[in-house]
Amino acid sequence: MHQRLISDKIYENLCEVIPGGVNSPVRAFKGLNIKPVVIASGNGAIITDEDGREYIDYCGSWGALIHGHANKKILKKVKERINLGTSFGITTKIEGEIAHKVKEIIPHIEKIRFVSSGTEATMSAVRLARGYTKKQYIIKFNGHYHGHADYFLVQAGSGVSQVNPTSSSAGIPDEMLKYTLSLPFNNEEALSRVFEDPTLQSNIAAVILEPVAGNMGVVPATKNFLKKIRDFCNQYHSVMIIDEVMTGFRIAYRGAYDYYDIQADLTTFGKIIGGGFPAAAFGGKAEIMNYLAPLGPVYQAGTLSGNPVAMEAGFQALKLLQAPNFYKKLEQKTNLLTNMINQAISDTKANACLQQAGSMFTIFFGRKSVTNYEEAKLCDLNLFAEFFRYMLSNGVYIPPLQMEAWFVSTAHTKDYLIKTGELVAQFLKKYN
Ligand SMILES: *Cc1c(COP(=O)(O)O)cnc(C)c1O
Repeated sequence: MHQRLISDKIYENLCEVIPGGVNSPVRAFKGLNIKPVVIASGNGAIITDEDGREYIDYCGSWGALIHGHANKKILKKVKERINLGTSFGITTKIEGEIAHKVKEIIPHIEKIRFVSSGTEATMSAVRLARGYTKKQYIIKFNGHYHGHADYFLVQAGSGVSQVNPTSSSAGIPDEMLKYTLSLPFNNEEALSRVFEDPTLQSNIAAVILEPVAGNMGVVPATKNFLKKIRDFCNQYHSVMIIDEVMTGFRIAYRGAYDYYDIQADLTTFGKIIGGGFPAAAFGGKAEIMNYLAPLGPVYQAGTLSGNPVAMEAGFQALKLLQAPNFYKKLEQKTNLLTNMINQAISDTKANACLQQAGSMFTIFFGRKSVTNYEEAKLCDLNLFAEFFRYMLSNGVYIPPLQMEAWFVSTAHTKDYLIKTGELVAQFLKKYN
Protein backbone atom coordinates (compact mmCIF):
# COMPACT_ATOMS: atom_id res chain seq x y z
CA MET A 1 0.00 0.00 0.00
CA HIS A 2 1.22 3.45 -0.91
CA GLN A 3 1.90 5.98 1.80
CA ARG A 4 -0.77 8.57 2.33
CA LEU A 5 1.16 10.84 4.62
CA ILE A 6 -0.94 13.99 4.46
CA SER A 7 -4.24 12.13 4.76
CA ASP A 8 -2.92 10.11 7.71
CA LYS A 9 -1.83 13.28 9.48
CA ILE A 10 -5.22 14.90 8.91
CA TYR A 11 -6.95 11.77 10.19
CA GLU A 12 -4.84 11.76 13.36
CA ASN A 13 -5.80 15.36 13.88
CA LEU A 14 -9.48 14.55 13.37
CA CYS A 15 -9.29 11.76 15.93
CA GLU A 16 -8.26 14.25 18.61
CA VAL A 17 -11.58 16.07 18.38
CA ILE A 18 -14.09 13.78 16.68
CA PRO A 19 -14.86 10.28 18.05
CA GLY A 20 -13.04 7.84 15.79
CA GLY A 21 -12.17 10.75 13.54
CA VAL A 22 -15.44 10.38 11.64
CA ASN A 23 -18.97 11.76 11.62
CA SER A 24 -20.48 8.44 10.55
CA PRO A 25 -18.87 5.18 11.73
CA VAL A 26 -18.49 3.36 8.41
CA ARG A 27 -15.97 5.98 7.28
CA ALA A 28 -13.45 4.75 9.86
CA PHE A 29 -12.62 1.60 7.79
CA LYS A 30 -12.98 -0.64 10.83
CA GLY A 31 -11.80 -4.18 10.15
CA LEU A 32 -10.00 -3.20 6.95
CA ASN A 33 -6.54 -2.79 8.51
CA ILE A 34 -5.96 0.47 6.73
CA LYS A 35 -6.35 4.14 7.62
CA PRO A 36 -9.38 5.91 6.17
CA VAL A 37 -9.00 8.00 3.05
CA VAL A 38 -9.50 11.73 3.48
CA ILE A 39 -11.11 13.29 0.45
CA ALA A 40 -10.17 16.70 -0.88
CA SER A 41 -12.37 16.90 -3.97
CA GLY A 42 -14.55 15.08 -6.47
CA ASN A 43 -15.24 15.54 -10.15
CA GLY A 44 -17.38 13.23 -12.29
CA ALA A 45 -16.56 9.65 -11.31
CA ILE A 46 -13.24 10.57 -9.71
CA ILE A 47 -12.45 11.51 -6.12
CA THR A 48 -9.07 12.85 -5.03
CA ASP A 49 -7.63 12.45 -1.56
CA GLU A 50 -5.57 14.96 0.39
CA ASP A 51 -2.37 13.36 -0.96
CA GLY A 52 -3.52 13.95 -4.52
CA ARG A 53 -4.30 10.28 -5.21
CA GLU A 54 -7.22 9.71 -7.54
CA TYR A 55 -9.80 6.97 -7.25
CA ILE A 56 -12.67 5.87 -9.45
CA ASP A 57 -15.53 6.21 -6.98
CA TYR A 58 -18.23 3.56 -6.66
CA CYS A 59 -19.63 4.91 -3.40
CA GLY A 60 -20.94 8.16 -4.87
CA SER A 61 -21.90 9.53 -1.47
CA TRP A 62 -23.73 6.24 -0.84
CA GLY A 63 -25.63 6.41 -4.08
CA ALA A 64 -26.71 10.04 -3.84
CA LEU A 65 -24.55 11.15 -6.78
CA ILE A 66 -26.23 9.42 -9.70
CA HIS A 67 -25.00 12.29 -11.91
CA GLY A 68 -21.44 12.12 -10.57
CA HIS A 69 -19.46 14.56 -8.44
CA ALA A 70 -19.71 18.32 -8.97
CA ASN A 71 -22.20 17.91 -11.81
CA LYS A 72 -22.00 21.14 -13.79
CA LYS A 73 -25.71 21.56 -14.43
CA ILE A 74 -26.61 21.05 -10.78
CA LEU A 75 -23.81 23.29 -9.53
CA LYS A 76 -24.71 26.15 -11.84
CA LYS A 77 -28.25 26.33 -10.48
CA VAL A 78 -27.11 25.81 -6.92
CA LYS A 79 -24.65 28.70 -7.20
CA GLU A 80 -27.41 30.96 -8.50
CA ARG A 81 -29.59 29.86 -5.63
CA ILE A 82 -26.92 30.44 -2.99
CA ASN A 83 -26.65 34.06 -4.10
CA LEU A 84 -30.31 34.52 -3.16
CA GLY A 85 -29.67 33.56 0.47
CA THR A 86 -29.18 30.08 1.84
CA SER A 87 -31.80 29.57 4.53
CA PHE A 88 -34.91 31.33 5.74
CA GLY A 89 -36.94 28.94 7.83
CA ILE A 90 -39.85 30.37 5.86
CA THR A 91 -41.61 28.93 2.82
CA THR A 92 -39.96 29.23 -0.62
CA LYS A 93 -41.23 28.52 -4.12
CA ILE A 94 -38.64 25.89 -4.97
CA GLU A 95 -40.16 23.53 -2.35
CA GLY A 96 -43.33 23.36 -4.44
CA GLU A 97 -41.38 22.85 -7.65
CA ILE A 98 -39.54 19.78 -6.38
CA ALA A 99 -42.68 18.41 -4.71
CA HIS A 100 -44.62 18.67 -7.98
CA LYS A 101 -41.69 17.09 -9.80
CA VAL A 102 -41.77 14.06 -7.49
CA LYS A 103 -45.52 13.74 -7.99
CA GLU A 104 -45.12 14.06 -11.76
CA ILE A 105 -42.63 11.18 -11.68
CA ILE A 106 -44.51 9.02 -9.15
CA PRO A 107 -48.21 9.93 -9.22
CA HIS A 108 -49.10 7.98 -6.09
CA ILE A 109 -46.91 10.36 -4.08
CA GLU A 110 -49.90 12.65 -3.74
CA LYS A 111 -48.31 14.69 -0.99
CA ILE A 112 -44.77 14.89 0.26
CA ARG A 113 -42.85 16.53 3.05
CA PHE A 114 -39.15 17.32 2.95
CA VAL A 115 -36.71 16.74 5.79
CA SER A 116 -32.91 16.78 6.02
CA SER A 117 -31.90 13.12 6.32
CA GLY A 118 -33.14 9.64 5.56
CA THR A 119 -33.20 8.97 9.29
CA GLU A 120 -35.70 11.77 9.75
CA ALA A 121 -37.78 10.60 6.81
CA THR A 122 -38.28 7.04 8.07
CA MET A 123 -38.76 8.18 11.66
CA SER A 124 -41.43 10.65 10.59
CA ALA A 125 -43.13 8.12 8.31
CA VAL A 126 -43.42 5.64 11.17
CA ARG A 127 -44.83 8.27 13.52
CA LEU A 128 -47.31 9.26 10.86
CA ALA A 129 -48.32 5.63 10.28
CA ARG A 130 -48.90 5.19 14.00
CA GLY A 131 -50.85 8.43 14.27
CA TYR A 132 -52.97 7.52 11.27
CA THR A 133 -53.74 3.93 12.24
CA LYS A 134 -53.73 4.48 16.02
CA LYS A 135 -51.76 1.23 16.23
CA GLN A 136 -48.40 0.56 17.80
CA TYR A 137 -46.33 -2.26 16.31
CA ILE A 138 -44.03 -1.92 13.34
CA ILE A 139 -42.60 -4.79 11.35
CA LYS A 140 -39.14 -4.45 9.86
CA PHE A 141 -36.77 -6.98 8.32
CA ASN A 142 -33.43 -8.21 9.53
CA GLY A 143 -30.54 -6.45 7.84
CA HIS A 144 -32.65 -3.59 6.49
CA TYR A 145 -31.41 -0.17 7.48
CA HIS A 146 -33.81 2.68 8.06
CA GLY A 147 -31.55 5.21 9.73
CA HIS A 148 -30.72 5.34 13.41
CA ALA A 149 -33.96 6.07 15.26
CA ASP A 150 -33.99 4.04 18.50
CA TYR A 151 -36.72 1.60 17.54
CA PHE A 152 -35.03 0.64 14.25
CA LEU A 153 -31.72 -0.32 15.87
CA VAL A 154 -32.51 -3.91 16.56
CA GLN A 155 -30.35 -6.97 16.59
CA ALA A 156 -31.69 -9.41 14.10
CA GLY A 157 -33.57 -12.27 15.68
CA SER A 158 -31.89 -15.53 14.78
CA GLY A 159 -34.97 -17.63 14.25
CA VAL A 160 -38.43 -17.23 12.84
CA SER A 161 -39.92 -17.41 16.32
CA GLN A 162 -37.62 -14.79 17.80
CA VAL A 163 -39.37 -11.68 16.60
CA ASN A 164 -38.81 -9.60 19.70
CA PRO A 165 -35.38 -8.15 19.17
CA THR A 166 -32.69 -6.73 21.40
CA SER A 167 -30.93 -3.48 20.67
CA SER A 168 -27.93 -3.29 18.36
CA SER A 169 -26.74 -0.10 20.06
CA ALA A 170 -26.05 0.91 23.63
CA GLY A 171 -28.19 3.73 24.95
CA ILE A 172 -31.56 2.34 23.94
CA PRO A 173 -33.98 1.24 26.69
CA ASP A 174 -35.58 -2.17 26.02
CA GLU A 175 -38.96 -0.46 26.11
CA MET A 176 -38.11 1.40 22.91
CA LEU A 177 -38.02 -1.89 21.05
CA LYS A 178 -41.17 -3.30 22.54
CA TYR A 179 -43.19 -2.50 19.45
CA THR A 180 -40.60 -3.41 16.83
CA LEU A 181 -40.95 -6.85 15.28
CA SER A 182 -37.91 -7.80 13.23
CA LEU A 183 -38.44 -10.65 10.78
CA PRO A 184 -36.26 -12.54 8.30
CA PHE A 185 -36.44 -10.98 4.84
CA ASN A 186 -38.10 -12.80 1.96
CA ASN A 187 -39.72 -15.22 4.39
CA GLU A 188 -43.46 -15.35 3.77
CA GLU A 189 -44.05 -17.84 6.53
CA ALA A 190 -42.58 -15.60 9.23
CA LEU A 191 -44.64 -12.69 7.96
CA SER A 192 -47.83 -14.76 7.94
CA ARG A 193 -47.15 -15.94 11.46
CA VAL A 194 -47.19 -12.35 12.75
CA PHE A 195 -50.20 -11.20 10.74
CA GLU A 196 -52.12 -14.33 11.68
CA ASP A 197 -51.41 -13.87 15.38
CA PRO A 198 -54.67 -12.63 16.91
CA THR A 199 -52.87 -10.60 19.58
CA LEU A 200 -50.79 -8.73 16.97
CA GLN A 201 -52.69 -8.52 13.70
CA SER A 202 -54.95 -5.64 14.65
CA ASN A 203 -52.15 -3.63 16.23
CA ILE A 204 -49.62 -3.36 13.40
CA ALA A 205 -49.22 0.26 12.38
CA ALA A 206 -46.73 -0.29 9.59
CA VAL A 207 -44.49 -2.65 7.70
CA ILE A 208 -41.31 -0.89 6.59
CA LEU A 209 -38.77 -2.34 4.19
CA GLU A 210 -36.16 -1.68 1.57
CA PRO A 211 -37.63 -3.10 -1.67
CA VAL A 212 -34.16 -4.06 -2.83
CA ALA A 213 -32.15 -4.21 0.35
CA GLY A 214 -28.92 -2.32 -0.14
CA ASN A 215 -27.65 -2.05 3.39
CA MET A 216 -26.76 -5.74 3.69
CA GLY A 217 -25.38 -5.71 0.18
CA VAL A 218 -27.80 -5.87 -2.73
CA VAL A 219 -30.55 -8.37 -1.88
CA PRO A 220 -33.76 -7.91 -3.87
CA ALA A 221 -37.12 -8.78 -2.39
CA THR A 222 -38.98 -11.48 -4.24
CA LYS A 223 -42.05 -10.15 -5.97
CA ASN A 224 -44.27 -12.59 -4.08
CA PHE A 225 -42.91 -11.40 -0.77
CA LEU A 226 -43.74 -7.78 -1.58
CA LYS A 227 -47.17 -8.79 -2.77
CA LYS A 228 -47.76 -10.67 0.45
CA ILE A 229 -46.84 -7.58 2.47
CA ARG A 230 -49.14 -5.47 0.30
CA ASP A 231 -52.02 -7.92 0.81
CA PHE A 232 -51.56 -8.16 4.57
CA CYS A 233 -51.36 -4.37 4.89
CA ASN A 234 -54.60 -4.03 2.94
CA GLN A 235 -56.32 -6.71 4.95
CA TYR A 236 -55.31 -5.44 8.39
CA HIS A 237 -55.19 -1.71 7.60
CA SER A 238 -51.48 -1.38 8.24
CA VAL A 239 -49.42 1.22 6.40
CA MET A 240 -46.92 -0.19 3.92
CA ILE A 241 -43.83 2.01 4.03
CA ILE A 242 -41.34 1.39 1.26
CA ASP A 243 -38.03 2.89 2.30
CA GLU A 244 -36.58 4.13 -0.97
CA VAL A 245 -33.89 6.33 0.54
CA MET A 246 -31.39 4.26 -1.43
CA THR A 247 -33.47 2.68 -4.21
CA GLY A 248 -35.58 5.74 -5.05
CA PHE A 249 -34.69 7.10 -8.51
CA ARG A 250 -31.91 4.49 -8.52
CA ILE A 251 -33.17 0.99 -9.37
CA ALA A 252 -35.62 2.55 -11.84
CA TYR A 253 -37.18 5.92 -12.62
CA ARG A 254 -40.09 5.24 -10.26
CA GLY A 255 -38.09 3.00 -7.93
CA ALA A 256 -39.95 0.01 -6.54
CA TYR A 257 -43.12 0.96 -8.38
CA ASP A 258 -41.45 0.31 -11.75
CA TYR A 259 -39.27 -2.49 -10.49
CA TYR A 260 -41.97 -4.54 -8.78
CA ASP A 261 -45.25 -2.91 -9.76
CA ILE A 262 -46.06 -2.43 -6.08
CA GLN A 263 -47.45 0.78 -4.60
CA ALA A 264 -46.57 1.81 -1.08
CA ASP A 265 -48.88 3.82 1.12
CA LEU A 266 -45.92 5.89 2.23
CA THR A 267 -42.52 6.11 0.58
CA THR A 268 -39.33 7.57 2.01
CA PHE A 269 -36.66 9.21 -0.11
CA GLY A 270 -33.14 10.48 0.52
CA LYS A 271 -29.75 10.33 -1.17
CA ILE A 272 -30.57 11.07 -4.86
CA ILE A 273 -33.47 13.38 -3.99
CA GLY A 274 -31.00 15.75 -2.29
CA GLY A 275 -28.76 16.10 -5.34
CA GLY A 276 -25.70 15.84 -3.07
CA PHE A 277 -27.12 18.07 -0.34
CA PRO A 278 -28.76 17.10 2.95
CA ALA A 279 -32.35 16.54 1.89
CA ALA A 280 -34.77 13.66 2.20
CA ALA A 281 -38.53 13.26 2.14
CA PHE A 282 -41.51 11.10 2.91
CA GLY A 283 -44.75 11.08 0.98
CA GLY A 284 -47.69 9.09 -0.24
CA LYS A 285 -51.45 9.00 0.04
CA ALA A 286 -52.93 12.44 0.76
CA GLU A 287 -55.37 10.85 3.20
CA ILE A 288 -52.42 9.75 5.34
CA MET A 289 -50.17 12.77 4.74
CA ASN A 290 -52.96 15.11 5.87
CA TYR A 291 -52.56 13.70 9.37
CA LEU A 292 -49.39 15.79 9.62
CA ALA A 293 -49.40 19.08 11.50
CA PRO A 294 -50.64 21.72 10.79
CA LEU A 295 -53.54 19.85 9.13
CA GLY A 296 -53.55 16.93 11.52
CA PRO A 297 -52.40 15.74 14.92
CA VAL A 298 -49.01 14.19 14.02
CA TYR A 299 -46.21 16.61 14.83
CA GLN A 300 -43.15 16.86 12.61
CA ALA A 301 -40.92 19.85 11.87
CA GLY A 302 -37.42 21.04 10.92
CA THR A 303 -35.43 24.30 10.85
CA LEU A 304 -33.66 23.29 7.64
CA SER A 305 -36.51 21.18 6.20
CA GLY A 306 -37.05 22.16 2.58
CA ASN A 307 -33.89 24.25 2.62
CA PRO A 308 -33.90 26.15 -0.71
CA VAL A 309 -30.32 25.29 -1.67
CA ALA A 310 -30.88 21.58 -1.04
CA MET A 311 -34.25 21.75 -2.82
CA GLU A 312 -32.63 23.38 -5.86
CA ALA A 313 -29.96 20.68 -5.99
CA GLY A 314 -32.57 17.95 -5.65
CA PHE A 315 -34.87 19.53 -8.22
CA GLN A 316 -32.06 19.74 -10.77
CA ALA A 317 -30.99 16.17 -10.02
CA LEU A 318 -34.54 14.92 -10.63
CA LYS A 319 -34.83 16.92 -13.86
CA LEU A 320 -31.65 15.30 -15.17
CA LEU A 321 -33.24 11.87 -14.67
CA GLN A 322 -35.76 12.79 -17.36
CA ALA A 323 -33.16 12.77 -20.15
CA PRO A 324 -34.07 10.27 -22.90
CA ASN A 325 -33.22 6.67 -21.99
CA PHE A 326 -31.50 7.78 -18.80
CA TYR A 327 -32.00 4.50 -16.95
CA LYS A 328 -31.41 2.31 -19.97
CA LYS A 329 -28.04 3.95 -20.59
CA LEU A 330 -27.04 3.87 -16.94
CA GLU A 331 -27.89 0.19 -16.74
CA GLN A 332 -25.91 -0.51 -19.90
CA LYS A 333 -22.89 1.16 -18.31
CA THR A 334 -23.36 -0.87 -15.16
CA ASN A 335 -23.73 -4.09 -17.13
CA LEU A 336 -20.46 -3.45 -18.90
CA LEU A 337 -18.77 -3.77 -15.51
CA THR A 338 -20.98 -6.41 -13.93
CA ASN A 339 -20.75 -8.68 -16.99
CA MET A 340 -16.97 -8.57 -16.72
CA ILE A 341 -17.15 -9.41 -13.02
CA ASN A 342 -19.63 -12.24 -13.53
CA GLN A 343 -17.41 -13.63 -16.28
CA ALA A 344 -14.37 -13.47 -13.98
CA ILE A 345 -16.28 -15.20 -11.17
CA SER A 346 -17.25 -18.02 -13.49
CA ASP A 347 -13.78 -18.27 -15.15
CA THR A 348 -11.99 -18.50 -11.82
CA LYS A 349 -14.73 -20.61 -10.21
CA ALA A 350 -14.50 -18.19 -7.31
CA ASN A 351 -16.74 -18.77 -4.33
CA ALA A 352 -18.42 -15.42 -4.82
CA CYS A 353 -21.48 -13.94 -6.46
CA LEU A 354 -22.67 -10.63 -7.82
CA GLN A 355 -26.18 -9.38 -7.12
CA GLN A 356 -27.48 -6.37 -9.02
CA ALA A 357 -30.51 -4.12 -9.27
CA GLY A 358 -30.20 -1.49 -12.00
CA SER A 359 -27.08 0.57 -11.34
CA MET A 360 -26.38 -0.82 -7.87
CA PHE A 361 -24.72 -4.13 -7.10
CA THR A 362 -22.65 -6.07 -4.57
CA ILE A 363 -19.98 -8.71 -4.94
CA PHE A 364 -20.46 -11.14 -2.07
CA PHE A 365 -17.35 -13.12 -1.16
CA GLY A 366 -17.76 -16.65 0.16
CA ARG A 367 -21.36 -17.08 -1.03
CA LYS A 368 -23.05 -18.24 -4.22
CA SER A 369 -26.25 -16.38 -3.38
CA VAL A 370 -27.66 -14.15 -0.63
CA THR A 371 -31.39 -13.89 -0.06
CA ASN A 372 -31.49 -12.52 3.48
CA TYR A 373 -29.37 -11.14 6.31
CA GLU A 374 -28.74 -14.54 7.87
CA GLU A 375 -26.96 -15.54 4.66
CA ALA A 376 -25.24 -12.18 4.18
CA LYS A 377 -23.60 -12.62 7.57
CA LEU A 378 -21.84 -15.77 6.34
CA CYS A 379 -19.70 -13.84 3.83
CA ASP A 380 -15.91 -13.95 3.93
CA LEU A 381 -15.02 -10.61 5.51
CA ASN A 382 -11.28 -11.23 5.46
CA LEU A 383 -11.33 -11.77 1.74
CA PHE A 384 -13.46 -8.67 1.33
CA ALA A 385 -10.92 -6.63 3.33
CA GLU A 386 -8.17 -7.97 1.09
CA PHE A 387 -10.23 -7.03 -1.95
CA PHE A 388 -10.97 -3.54 -0.67
CA ARG A 389 -7.27 -2.83 -0.12
CA TYR A 390 -6.40 -4.24 -3.52
CA MET A 391 -8.91 -2.02 -5.28
CA LEU A 392 -7.96 1.06 -3.28
CA SER A 393 -4.24 0.64 -3.91
CA ASN A 394 -5.05 0.37 -7.62
CA GLY A 395 -7.11 3.55 -7.69
CA VAL A 396 -10.66 2.28 -7.19
CA TYR A 397 -12.74 3.30 -4.20
CA ILE A 398 -15.59 0.94 -3.32
CA PRO A 399 -17.86 1.14 -0.27
CA PRO A 400 -15.71 -0.03 2.65
CA LEU A 401 -18.04 -2.79 3.88
CA GLN A 402 -18.96 -6.15 2.43
CA MET A 403 -22.60 -5.48 3.19
CA GLU A 404 -22.94 -2.37 1.06
CA ALA A 405 -23.75 -1.61 -2.55
CA TRP A 406 -21.58 -0.18 -5.32
CA PHE A 407 -23.17 2.63 -7.30
CA VAL A 408 -22.52 3.51 -10.93
CA SER A 409 -23.20 7.08 -12.07
CA THR A 410 -23.62 8.63 -15.49
CA ALA A 411 -20.09 10.02 -15.05
CA HIS A 412 -18.47 6.57 -15.11
CA THR A 413 -16.84 6.25 -18.53
CA LYS A 414 -16.34 3.04 -20.44
CA ASP A 415 -12.60 3.24 -19.71
CA TYR A 416 -13.17 3.50 -15.97
CA LEU A 417 -15.62 0.62 -15.99
CA ILE A 418 -13.32 -1.62 -18.01
CA LYS A 419 -10.34 -0.76 -15.84
CA THR A 420 -12.39 -1.66 -12.78
CA GLY A 421 -13.60 -4.92 -14.30
CA GLU A 422 -10.05 -5.91 -15.16
CA LEU A 423 -8.88 -5.20 -11.62
CA VAL A 424 -11.63 -7.34 -10.13
CA ALA A 425 -10.74 -10.15 -12.52
CA GLN A 426 -7.05 -9.88 -11.56
CA PHE A 427 -7.94 -10.03 -7.89
CA LEU A 428 -10.13 -13.10 -8.33
CA LYS A 429 -7.35 -14.85 -10.26
CA LYS A 430 -4.79 -14.03 -7.63
CA TYR A 431 -6.77 -14.88 -4.50
CA ASN A 432 -8.75 -17.82 -5.64
C1 LIG B 1 -29.10 5.79 3.85
C2 LIG B 1 -30.38 5.17 4.26
C3 LIG B 1 -31.16 5.68 5.33
C4 LIG B 1 -30.67 6.76 6.23
O1 LIG B 1 -30.47 7.97 5.57
P1 LIG B 1 -29.52 9.07 6.24
O2 LIG B 1 -29.65 10.23 5.32
O3 LIG B 1 -28.15 8.46 6.30
O4 LIG B 1 -30.06 9.34 7.60
C5 LIG B 1 -32.40 5.13 5.55
N1 LIG B 1 -32.87 4.12 4.80
C6 LIG B 1 -32.15 3.60 3.78
C7 LIG B 1 -32.73 2.50 2.97
C8 LIG B 1 -30.88 4.10 3.50
O5 LIG B 1 -30.17 3.55 2.50
